[in-house]
Amino acid sequence: MPSEFDKAVAYCLAYDRWNGKTAQALLTWKRAEELAQTDEQQIFTKMLEAAGTALQEPPDQLEEHVKHLERVNSVAQSLGDSPIALLMGGATKIKGYVFESAKLPEIRGASALLDRINRIDLPALFSHLSDGYSPSETERAESVRDQFRERHHGKEPLDCRDCVIYANGGEILAFAPNKIASALADEIEFLYNSETLIANSVAVWRSCSLVELSFGVRPLDLFPDRFKQINDDRLRKLLRNYYEELDAEHYFRRKTFGELASAVALEKLRRRDGNEVCGRPPKSIPHLETNPYARRCTSCERRAAVAMRPFDTEERWLCEPCARKSVFGQETKKESSEQTKWFKDAGLVWEAQGTKAWATHFDEWLGVDANAELKKTYYGSLPQAPASGPEDLEDIAEAATPSGFIGAIYADGNNMGALLEELETPSEYATFAKKVNEATTNATFTALAKHLKPVKGKHRFEVLSIGGDDVFLIVPAHAALRIAVTIAREVEEELRQEDITRVGGGYAWAEVHRIKPQNQPSSLSKVVLSSGVLIADQHTPVFLIRRLAEELLKSAKARAKKLRELDKQYYGATVDFMSLKSLGMIVTRIEDFRDQALRRKDLDFTAKPYTIPEVEALLTAVEELKKADFPKSQLYHLREQVEKGWLASIVDYLYFLCRSPHAEELREVLGRWVGSSSTGRVSAIGPWVRRDGQGWETVLGDLLEIYDFVPEET
Ligand SMILES: [Zn+2]
Repeated sequence: MPSEFDKAVAYCLAYDRWNGKTAQALLTWKRAEELAQTDEQQIFTKMLEAAGTALQEPPDQLEEHVKHLERVNSVAQSLGDSPIALLMGGATKIKGYVFESAKLPEIRGASALLDRINRIDLPALFSHLSDGYSPSETERAESVRDQFRERHHGKEPLDCRDCVIYANGGEILAFAPNKIASALADEIEFLYNSETLIANSVAVWRSCSLVELSFGVRPLDLFPDRFKQINDDRLRKLLRNYYEELDAEHYFRRKTFGELASAVALEKLRRRDGNEVCGRPPKSIPHLETNPYARRCTSCERRAAVAMRPFDTEERWLCEPCARKSVFGQETKKESSEQTKWFKDAGLVWEAQGTKAWATHFDEWLGVDANAELKKTYYGSLPQAPASGPEDLEDIAEAATPSGFIGAIYADGNNMGALLEELETPSEYATFAKKVNEATTNATFTALAKHLKPVKGKHRFEVLSIGGDDVFLIVPAHAALRIAVTIAREVEEELRQEDITRVGGGYAWAEVHRIKPQNQPSSLSKVVLSSGVLIADQHTPVFLIRRLAEELLKSAKARAKKLRELDKQYYGATVDFMSLKSLGMIVTRIEDFRDQALRRKDLDFTAKPYTIPEVEALLTAVEELKKADFPKSQLYHLREQVEKGWLASIVDYLYFLCRSPHAEELREVLGRWVGSSSTGRVSAIGPWVRRDGQGWETVLGDLLEIYDFVPEET
């Protein structure tokens, strides 16, 4: 029985050999499982067999690998070694487009529009799809197909759903007939351009032989039996860097479908950066002319305004890209035609088709039986009707304790590139992408349902993206760290159940975490989401929120990488955070700020970034101190003392423990931090714990930083 991708590959080969109609007819014939009668049907059967051989899981035994390669090569030759295309495309610099506008309505619209292009428009180029689509989404998919026909002189868009390996996370990876790959890549870029006017996107393809689908990029060019004959030292070194060892075993480990997909991903980066790829001229950057005397758009403050959207208290002038974002956002909230009238009144003709808000995705998800408990947790005794989205950041900040502060969470998978390269077949690739995407969505929605509640019929969060391994959320400040931790925990828990992402546990706790050992799970997931969490005043400019959240994520990921290097068995997630109480606090990069304000030679006044168990310990510490009515002023006093130096602060701390009635509580809480204890020397004393075997760090400052934003009970 041919698998889904066997059919896709055979379909593409048939499309190239004959045409779309014939390929389609052959696919239908095959589905009916009738005997081959025509020449075409016989050749198509051979194509299916060849595809099946090329896409089958590689054998376990090393000797079998060579035989397998010969087999694939021979069936490919019997079909004239015709190539098919592997195509990858999607939006680039997504955050730049989404966060260009300063206001939530446009940010939400931008995010939802990109989501629709990725989910509906791109797959529509490969097949008629409508499973689970709303009427408006189906209509959108059909108009994408019509547009393709029109723009490419009657060329028929493909009609084989199995061509799509995945379409999420802002990207599509798909098989395509060689003949039409260029038109499809062109159309993908055009879709982003024509719908958003300004978002950047790239699409590239690579012609691949069947042997490459099975064994990565040009496997026959330099076979391992020739490694020994290479005299050029530089080449040997390069090869060694790539394969680790120059033998057949390491060679075949690297030569997979994952290698091929990475090669295409690399082409995508090259095209994004303005290089000539696949013989096409470099992609031009979308550009809208701005007249210096024109009224500026109030949302992006970049382009000339062309439309006026009335709000309750103000009139906002918008440029066309921002106006589209704005009206798309309104449509996702199902606002009336009276409310969206301003768009047509301005003479703009674009239609916001197939709109769907993240809040709707969330409510649909809560509606599934398996999530009934979470739905109860979230909606409680409130009317179960779906809540509506927040109007602006103030709506989210209003639900925070203390009120007026929001939390931005930016989470992203660790080490994904390397993991993707290891995947052996398109099926594995598809399964991996699907599982990671599902786990990320489930984890995010679970975290939102667990830690938040709608207030006055409004959701008090905004999802600005979930897709692939990437999440960006705005939530009330006090829930931000808990949500980030729950996302990390849930993703890990879901993915360590899956064969494709599971990896044995058994790392050395003390190498990784700076707190006392806890129960370790028997297995881990190779995919985990690290995150950057920024807590800030509701009036903080959006560009700053985004920049700082990105910096924090980068810092968190750097720690995860370092820990993985320390202990190769450790794959856990990390979190970095910052609470910005006043705007003047930070103008430079976070790292520079920390170097200047929080580091003295061998003393660190912060222990960030944290692993997940560490950040949980920090949150618990605050909760316990609050429960015990521990005087905050004394924490401030101790924090001030650490600036006086190592010895002075220890003396002061010990003195405090002797005379304070709250000594036990503090000793208990800080006593959980044991520092890096692998050196055999004293690893914790007073408020200090040893850092990476040298120097000292304290969590006191971090504890105080989040103190006000951790509710007493969870
Ligand atoms: Zn604008």
